Amino acid sequence: MTTQKFANQFVCDLVAYEPGKPIEETARELGLDPDSIVKLASNENSLGPAPLAKKALCDMVDELHIYPDGGGYKLRSALAEKYDLGMENIVLGNGSNEIIELLCHCYLNRDAELIAAEHAFVVYKLMATLFGAKYVEVADPDFIHDLDGMADAITENTRLVFVANPNNPTGTMVTQAQLDAFVDRLPEHVVAVFDEAYFEFVHDAPDTVKYIREGKNVVVLRTFSKAYGLAGLRIGYGLCAPQVAGILQKARQPFNTNAAAQEAALASLADTQHVADTIAMNDAGLAFYEKAFDERGLEYVKSYANFVLVNVGDGDKLFADMLKQGVIVRAMSGYKLPGWVRISVGTEAENTRCIEVLDQVLDCAKA
Ligand SMILES: *Cc1c(COP(=O)(O)O)cnc(C)c1O
Repeated sequence: MTTQKFANQFVCDLVAYEPGKPIEETARELGLDPDSIVKLASNENSLGPAPLAKKALCDMVDELHIYPDGGGYKLRSALAEKYDLGMENIVLGNGSNEIIELLCHCYLNRDAELIAAEHAFVVYKLMATLFGAKYVEVADPDFIHDLDGMADAITENTRLVFVANPNNPTGTMVTQAQLDAFVDRLPEHVVAVFDEAYFEFVHDAPDTVKYIREGKNVVVLRTFSKAYGLAGLRIGYGLCAPQVAGILQKARQPFNTNAAAQEAALASLADTQHVADTIAMNDAGLAFYEKAFDERGLEYVKSYANFVLVNVGDGDKLFADMLKQGVIVRAMSGYKLPGWVRISVGTEAENTRCIEVLDQVLDCAKA
């Protein structure tokens, strides 16, 4: 209790982030074989890491006694080339989540405000709270970000506006025209952050990197955790106007991204076949779930990412019932969506198993 008393109250009050339930933990608790468990709870890539990334990891193990390149030269150069930007535009992070935290370090304080959508990725709220800043939530009718409403909410204290596109957990997107209009309305004291963790899954995605080339106060976040299948290594990056990147670089730990992650990420960029296979699997999986939900009369939100939000009546109960059958999905009560679960798209076999178990469980509920 005494330690509580001296800690920052706003940190003590924080409700910690609840990640997808790990396979090993589930296997232990249920006495099941880990290999029999299907995890569709964290939007991971069911195809695994890219073959070229695995090879790069094997090739670098003898160098693990050496500190990483703190400047991430090779990976940042490759990313600069990929996006036609300069290295000075690129900041690496221990997952793109770390860059969210770095942005808060650099721009938030107790007087500052961060704006996000009502059903935005929950990490924005956690971070704003952690820095004692004011979290401003803007309604998102039909689960779609209202960029006009978000621009209207900007005050002289606003420092950051977060737009996840597609958003997690809703899977919805805003359009190029909406983004263009929004960026035009940004005052100079506000940085807009476009969190594009699911960018690779989107067909005809809006171009936000052009705002960086134009020198706008914009950060585009991307990650190797989703389509590239490297969630376990923790690596992502921000594409930023140089004036923003320079500040973020000062706020990070000297070796914030590890050597294995840098090598695997670099190799993943070259493995275009693996990304193509991943997108093909996801397109098929999204179509499979849409059809399955349509046939069962279940309400769902049209998704542009690698997961689907579906209304099952009681999300916590469905999560618990499916867990007993070895299928892990994500309950959404933490997002104030107690009726819904979020299901990640997996392989054909995983998706089929998921719907089989969903059918069993929902029928039991009716009986
Ligand atoms: C998964 C996700 C991230 C990325 O997380 P990492 O830290 O890169 O693993 C960022 N933003 C959103 C909206 C996500 O869903």
